[in-house]
Amino acid sequence: MNFYFEAVAVLDKLDAKKGSIKGVLASVPEKNRKRTAALVIETLKYKQVLNEVIDAAQLLKQEKKLSSRNLALVLVHDLLLARGIQAGDGPIKQAVLRHRTRLNGEFQRLKIKRGAKTQEELAQTDDSRAASIPRYIRVNLTCWSLDEALKVFEAQGFEQGDPLSSKKAFKIDDHIPDLLAFHPSVKFTEDPLYLSGKIILQDKASCFPAHVLCPPSNDRAQVIDATAAPGNKTSHLSAIMQNKGKLFAFERDRKRFTTLKNMLARAHCSNVEAVNLDFLTVSPEDSKFAGVTHILLDPSCSGSGIVNRMDHLLDNEEEGDGNYERLNKLAAFQLKMIRHAMKFPSVKRIAYSTCSIHAIENEHVVGQALKTEEAVVGHFKLAHREEVLPNWHRRGIAEEMNGEVDNASRLVRCSPGEDGTNGFFVSLFIRAGAEGESEGQSKLKRKSDDEATRHRPAKKKKKQSTATT
Ligand code: SAM
Repeated sequence: MNFYFEAVAVLDKLDAKKGSIKGVLASVPEKNRKRTAALVIETLKYKQVLNEVIDAAQLLKQEKKLSSRNLALVLVHDLLLARGIQAGDGPIKQAVLRHRTRLNGEFQRLKIKRGAKTQEELAQTDDSRAASIPRYIRVNLTCWSLDEALKVFEAQGFEQGDPLSSKKAFKIDDHIPDLLAFHPSVKFTEDPLYLSGKIILQDKASCFPAHVLCPPSNDRAQVIDATAAPGNKTSHLSAIMQNKGKLFAFERDRKRFTTLKNMLARAHCSNVEAVNLDFLTVSPEDSKFAGVTHILLDPSCSGSGIVNRMDHLLDNEEEGDGNYERLNKLAAFQLKMIRHAMKFPSVKRIAYSTCSIHAIENEHVVGQALKTEEAVVGHFKLAHREEVLPNWHRRGIAEEMNGEVDNASRLVRCSPGEDGTNGFFVSLFIRAGAEGESEGQSKLKRKSDDEATRHRPAKKKKKQSTATT
């Protein structure tokens, strides 16, 4: 039962607005954290439904042993939506089990009332800002062309138009040529196109880093994705590279590494070597990486920009002291990762991104990175706006960069709810000297990418991604 009490303590703190989900979970002892986090997040996702079921079954009125609603919530969650209550027999467990039939009946009734075919359809996963974010899908150009994809969607009854105005409208994105935007209510998770890897469910802003990094697409290309799982950006890089050359994808977490491997196999990425390793332990002196010219760095962050997942359930904006400390720790780690990436001898371009809205993880990290020995000795600076989505309106915040207006204009920000995306931040470090060459290359490439996106014939790939542990 202790496990449930721990989850209840977290839910109580959240109710009392004592921090964000991530912040409060960070205070749970590490050995229990993952399990507790999973239960808390799942319970929050179904909170509304579970509350209705608990009330309809009059559970709290009839069972005084259930000392709080949050305790009832976690237990009923596991009873109805998971593998049952994971605790030894005792009065509290019995207090819930006594009502099993009634609870189940109320749950089924609610499902019918809401027209939900699956349990997932009852989950609440987003906030009001999410309604202004289209459902984005990236056409996986490794498997087929944009033209082919358009024909398939049109044959399914979709028409090109404003995706927020109708469930049947979709459009080609203005900034990412292989991205399509649909109405937020359109679901693709069961779609054969998704299951076969022909489309990738990826928020628009999350497509910016690979697009901006603009890796080469030839057999000599060598690229690193330093923090890869679940692999959306890795598969995007692989598609831009036209599945050529070599893309090393590092992921330190074993479980997430499995997810990454599955994702890469599904997306038919044959130029990827996935490695279950901490990027910080990878030696830049290793001859294996001597030819790496492009690195994508999308490290762990506070996730404060994500509004169409669970974190919206609490206000993330007001960071208490505990969170401030956590943000500083994250920023120190992010800076360490950038400095490490800058040590690779042939690297010319490093895209650093976060799904955070906090300047501490964004402008501040970038500003500090530019002053490090690695940046000074390696002649790294921020790539000119021209290279970093020049037509994107929202740029870095100059006040957060000591008033450096030009440098701030070289950064990209996305504001949740305002830009039709989740909150996001993108920067591109570029090595001076390699600059002219890179700019020319990337402009040419971007142009040909746009054309290729519209005209590239579908290619069948035979090789499978390799995975090293
Ligand atoms: N780029 C990914 C995508 O678009 O699908 C998302 C990356 S997620 C924000 C960060 C990932 O980096 C997590 O899976 C985390 O486990 C991993 N990670 C964090 N630190 C790492 C390190 N030092 N080396 C390798 N992976 C790391």
